[in-house]
Amino acid sequence: MTVTTDAVIVGGGVMGTSILYNLAKQGVRSPLLLERETLGSGSTGRSSGLIRMHYSTEVNTRLAWESYKVFKNFDDVVGGDPAFVKCGFIVIAPDEQAGGIAHNTAIQQRVGVPVSLISKDEAQEVAPGFKLNDGETYAWEPESGHADPSGTALAFAQRARELGADVQLESPVTNVEIEGDRVVAVTTATERYETPIVVLATGPWSARFFPKLGIEIPLEATRHEVFFIKRPLDRLPHHPGGADIANLTYFRPEGTDLTLVGNGNVEQEVDPDTYNPKPSMDYLENIWMRLAQRIPDIADGEYFTGYAGLYTSTPDLHPVVDKVEGINGLYVCTGFSGHGFKLSPAIGTCMAQLILEGEAKLVDISPLRMSRFTDGDLNGITYDFRVIA
Ligand SMILES: Cc1cc2nc3c(=O)[nH]c(=O)nc-3n(C[C@H](O)[C@H](O)[C@H](O)COP(=O)(O)OP(=O)(O)OC[C@H]3O[C@@H](n4cnc5c(N)ncnc54)[C@H](O)[C@@H]3O)c2cc1C
Repeated sequence: MTVTTDAVIVGGGVMGTSILYNLAKQGVRSPLLLERETLGSGSTGRSSGLIRMHYSTEVNTRLAWESYKVFKNFDDVVGGDPAFVKCGFIVIAPDEQAGGIAHNTAIQQRVGVPVSLISKDEAQEVAPGFKLNDGETYAWEPESGHADPSGTALAFAQRARELGADVQLESPVTNVEIEGDRVVAVTTATERYETPIVVLATGPWSARFFPKLGIEIPLEATRHEVFFIKRPLDRLPHHPGGADIANLTYFRPEGTDLTLVGNGNVEQEVDPDTYNPKPSMDYLENIWMRLAQRIPDIADGEYFTGYAGLYTSTPDLHPVVDKVEGINGLYVCTGFSGHGFKLSPAIGTCMAQLILEGEAKLVDISPLRMSRFTDGDLNGITYDFRVIA
């Protein structure tokens, strides 16, 4: 059967749902989202949910800051509850990396993010249970925190539906039909949707799907583990979120008594349909030990649970948010590695502006263009960035 619709979003992660919501809000009548499984079943549902603004490039810092403003006032701006919790975010790096921290902090300050470089004594005040060493540099973001990624995707989808959008689950898109220089339809096993606009927000499946359409972007799906530790509450009642560049971990509190920890470990490319989502003992021991070097009392915590999820990474660890040159109506939004969740509100707005007004106005997203891989004009990364989720 053929159905006609104004826009089709492929992929129901936090990006697809944010784009759907923003298109519906901007007056696109009945945009449709097709999801191969269920909302948030890709990277989004396994995301650590950290929200911070520490980045090595202005584009990511601005996207994070604009998104933060939405997370902070989500119910008023979008509607619904993404479960934002403010816990602060500390970046700890050995002095050899002080230049990187200073560079990133300067960008944040230029953008208007509340952040400062703090002394060891000040760091000890905001992170009382931490073992801090001489020869380290600290950046502190008091306003940062975390939120619930799948809850955010559901909230975007719910609000989009209220504005006239439609969401169809268990509907893998098998093809995007292109005629001449424009997109005309997408197909699933049972339906054909005629549409002038298609946005591919297919997360880790992008690397397999894009080449079928002749889209060449260097993308990899890689596996990343996180786990939760029940804290000894008498000694460690709370702690901020943070990234420890010295010990290569990131962490945040969860609920009242858990600590989430990961390290954005660099792993081999995997097949998103068959990767192992279970945690591994080697990783657990290694990362727990590294976390205990920073938070000694955590060594006496209890393992609670853990899992692995997928990053979708480009060579410069920045996403691709662009229209596809030469194919009118076709857009890509993928490659967010370990930091897409926190950018999702602003990405949705930028993508809707790109589609409807010809350019993103909220933030200049030209550094995220597809052609940078052929131009060789990649974005800079200050230090081991993967540790900062
Ligand atoms: C362990 C882990 C920790 C992370 N921690 C953080 C963090 O602390 N902070 C942060 O900001 N980010 C974090 N991230 C990154 C963040 O989760 C991702 O960048 C973000 O969720 C990407 O969203 P997405 O919508 O692009 O992709 P996804 O959530 O993967 O969504 C893509 C969707 O497309 C669907 N799809 C694919 N192909 C098709 C098709 N052919 N037809 C229909 N549907 C299709 C998939 O089923 C999937 O639901 C983390 C990620 C992981 C794995």
